[in-house]
Amino acid sequence: MAFPVSESVKRMRPSATLAAAAIAADLKSQGADVIDLSIGEPDFDTPQHIKNYAIEALQHGITKYTPTTGLKSLQKAIIGFYEREFGVSFAANQVMATSGGKQAIFNAVLTLVNRDDEVLIHQPYWVSFPEIVNFTGAKIVEIETEETGFVLTAEQVKVAITDKTKLIIINSPGNPSGRVIPADEFRKIVEVCAEHNVYVVSDECYLKFVYPPAEVFSTASLPKELQEYVCIAGTFSKTLAMTGWRVGYTIANPEWTRGMAKLQSHSTSHPTSFAQEGCAMALENWSETNAALNRMLAEYTRRREFLIPALNEIGLPCEMPEGAFYAFPNVRRCFNERIKTSADFADLLLKEAHIVTTNGAGFGVEGFIRLSYA
Ligand code: PLP
Repeated sequence: MAFPVSESVKRMRPSATLAAAAIAADLKSQGADVIDLSIGEPDFDTPQHIKNYAIEALQHGITKYTPTTGLKSLQKAIIGFYEREFGVSFAANQVMATSGGKQAIFNAVLTLVNRDDEVLIHQPYWVSFPEIVNFTGAKIVEIETEETGFVLTAEQVKVAITDKTKLIIINSPGNPSGRVIPADEFRKIVEVCAEHNVYVVSDECYLKFVYPPAEVFSTASLPKELQEYVCIAGTFSKTLAMTGWRVGYTIANPEWTRGMAKLQSHSTSHPTSFAQEGCAMALENWSETNAALNRMLAEYTRRREFLIPALNEIGLPCEMPEGAFYAFPNVRRCFNERIKTSADFADLLLKEAHIVTTNGAGFGVEGFIRLSYA
């Protein structure tokens, strides 16, 4: 008899990006010379000064359970970061540490969404958004954005809202598109949502990876009455090359936060104690941390400026990403008898050239592939 996997897990599809990464690892272990452009993981190591903070924390006995919402020092450091960067002051009961950005989004969605609700996500979306929503049994409504160059607009959101819409998940800078929603448009989107009592999870995990002239925007800088509707999901993973540390956070209204804390208290409890302290110190000593961040950003900028023109030159149209570290070229013009989908295209790259990419279908848009230049 087949193992009786639960309905909620049955509904989930495996992660397309992790599947591509597994293929790359497999090929490498067979000795192939693989060009792995699959996973969105910085190839830098965590900056040394941040490692040192975590080592010191371990040595000073920060090895016990922490509060569910995280160490006070981390909450304080996150509040300080938003004060410095965006001039806003959040209260401690709005801020909560999570095990990475992924858990931040899980917490936010599961605390709010019921089976009969509708949840909006905009294409192309990060692979985990629909699966996290699937877990709740709610209906996913996908918003197409190709005609606006993959930049979500308030008009598109307005059209998609029904009286069942509970939540929208917004991701800017976007994975995989690299698009940044301009501040004015973002504000209009949240205004439309607030008018219709629709909540917003704003996945800001690439907040710090924005290339001029595009500008960094966080929903933290929205007026208080709009912020009531927003849960920011943040993470240290990408910003500071700390994917394995598993530290992220949410910032939301106190009631939403209380619900998320209840949920987390019965799952992971909290992220690892000394990893939290390392993150707190990284934010507190911002000038050294920011210098390390800027060195990484300079390297991503260099790669972006090589990669995108090169893709266009070989006939794969690709917009210059305004943020994050992904190129999302259109491969439709290569479609023929043999290559009918972006999965076929990615397959061919893999088999004939050992180049690992992720096909666009996993992100909800057929005809594109994603290349990570991290
Ligand atoms: N959100 C987006 C858009 C991502 O691309 C990722 C990771 O790839 C995450 C959230 C989660 O990051 P983590 O759980 O490693 O903090």
